[in-house]
Amino acid sequence: MTIIDHPKEETRLRMVFLGSSGAIQVPSFHCVCSVCQAARANPQHRRTRASLALIGHETSVIDASPDIEFQLEREAIRQVDRVFITHWHFDHVWGLGLLGDAASHVSWPPIELYLPHEVIYHFDQELAYMKSRVNLHPIGPGDRFELPDATWEVVKTTHNEHSVGFVVEASQRFAYLVDGVTPPVQTLERLKKTNLDFVILEATMDELDEQWWNFTVEQAVACWQQIGPERCILTHLTCHGWKNHRLIAGLSYEERLAYEAKTPGLKFAYDGMTVIL
Ligand SMILES: [Zn+2]
Ligand SMILES: [Zn+2]
Ligand SMILES: [Zn+2]
Repeated sequence: MTIIDHPKEETRLRMVFLGSSGAIQVPSFHCVCSVCQAARANPQHRRTRASLALIGHETSVIDASPDIEFQLEREAIRQVDRVFITHWHFDHVWGLGLLGDAASHVSWPPIELYLPHEVIYHFDQELAYMKSRVNLHPIGPGDRFELPDATWEVVKTTHNEHSVGFVVEASQRFAYLVDGVTPPVQTLERLKKTNLDFVILEATMDELDEQWWNFTVEQAVACWQQIGPERCILTHLTCHGWKNHRLIAGLSYEERLAYEAKTPGLKFAYDGMTVIL
């Protein structure tokens, strides 16, 4: 995996992690734990809410977090052509309205918006004013799109009833399965068939003493090994744990580095991390 330092000068097809936190940002305004304090002291350790951009002949993003304006400005991304939504949770869709506003202020062509068909009614109710600024594509598992930079396929994830992930095939092949725990059998079989170069999973909580529809780091690593590619990137990192119904500090930056060192092929995403495809 090639991770580069000067993405803005790069002309090859690349993937940029616009954000890498879960629904809870790091630092979080209500928290003074050691991880949040470390992120306040060193802005490089801050995380905004998870989403991904694929930049080539055009720019596609997976999910539109509430932080998307800040993220696009930080990465000097001036136009968004396509948006793929994984599920209708606020940390993945609240930025849609911001993109709609941008599309009306500048003369973008309509944004191609791929939305699980079960949640089209949310769009119709909450973002109806944007309709003229998007071409809406209702999607479901098994759908496949041949696009200028890559082929995209929709797969079911295990997070809520309508959540989906994406298998993206360019010069490298990867799957984006965020949010969600171990995917259903049909998805696992589909992933094993593809010979993925890497998989992007979520590891929302570092520690967890009850069953959630999100992974801990250990659970995500076990899922990666089940799917089988050589490399895995973990994102949607809240950097906290949940114990006795309370939010507690999670892995520190140094502990994450140590975890990577003992786990070949594993990388924790960070905001702005850029991978050449
Ligand atoms: Zn989320
Ligand atoms: Zn904290
Ligand atoms: Zn979610």
